[in-house]
Amino acid sequence: MPEFLIQMLEKQYEEEIKNKILKGYNLKRKVTFRVNTLKSNSEEIEQVLNKLNFEYEKAPWSEDAFILKDAKESDIQELEIYKQGKIYLQSLSSILPPIILKPQEGADILDMAAAPGGKTTELAALTNNKAHITACEMNNIRIEKLKYNVEKQGASCVYIMQKDSRQIDDFFSFDQILLDAPCSGSGTLNFEDKNLEKFFTLKLVEKSTKAQLALLRKAIKILKKGQEMVYSTCSILSQENEEIVEKVMRENKLEIVPINFEGIEHLPILPTKIKGTVCVCPNELYEGFFIAKLKKI
Ligand code: SAM
Repeated sequence: MPEFLIQMLEKQYEEEIKNKILKGYNLKRKVTFRVNTLKSNSEEIEQVLNKLNFEYEKAPWSEDAFILKDAKESDIQELEIYKQGKIYLQSLSSILPPIILKPQEGADILDMAAAPGGKTTELAALTNNKAHITACEMNNIRIEKLKYNVEKQGASCVYIMQKDSRQIDDFFSFDQILLDAPCSGSGTLNFEDKNLEKFFTLKLVEKSTKAQLALLRKAIKILKKGQEMVYSTCSILSQENEEIVEKVMRENKLEIVPINFEGIEHLPILPTKIKGTVCVCPNELYEGFFIAKLKKI
């Protein structure tokens, strides 16, 4: 267990909450997926699951987010509905940011850190392929996964751009932006992972915060006035979340749009330093995740 992480959690959270987080790290998460409404619907998927005797329930905040009781990812990957792109394996927390952004048909939408494309394809599905989505990714290998998933999910309204999003020209402007930022992954750790101390380092946290700040600054620049964006990370450290948001709020005219949607009360929530933002606690259903919605005024 990296000592620096324990110290950070102790500084940020009360003892009881810190222990809840540590317990959450050790739980095995259930397999979850999202129905791709561009190719199918929840009724069709339910019929298939029932026929094959899969036990499941739905997330209380979406008809299209399924939780499997005992299945493994490999069981799902063998199904025709998976092979045909009718469903997308996605963690519950990761399904939330596009729902919170509320993408609009006809809007120019930027996904600034897009691969492998879970949220890009969700944005396309939520707008019935009727938005203009630019999906930006800078990593050579990951962009191939993004292309594959966009194609497989039938997200025809997506334009993929290989670029460092920090270098996007200020000439461009967008109605809605999703910045699902690169992060340390402190919300998704598992202590059984033997390589944990190797990849989860203080250096990684510091590198992530630098990238997050630069990306969020760019996002604010190219977001149209009066419009909204979502900033999210799969980290539960305030260094990567509230502190980044607070910094850009000091530099720009922004306001927090309080996050609210039907079923939000079912989320296992951690306290955040900014009212209206959401931090999800890792447990057997959810990865640790932070989400803030910002409006440029
Ligand atoms: N939104 C994705 C999804 O839901 O499938 C996950 C995104 S992952 C958290 C962050 C991604 O951002 C990685 O694929 C990483 O390669 C990419 N990335 C990191 N820095 C970037 C930058 N400066 N410009 C563009 N992409 C970047």
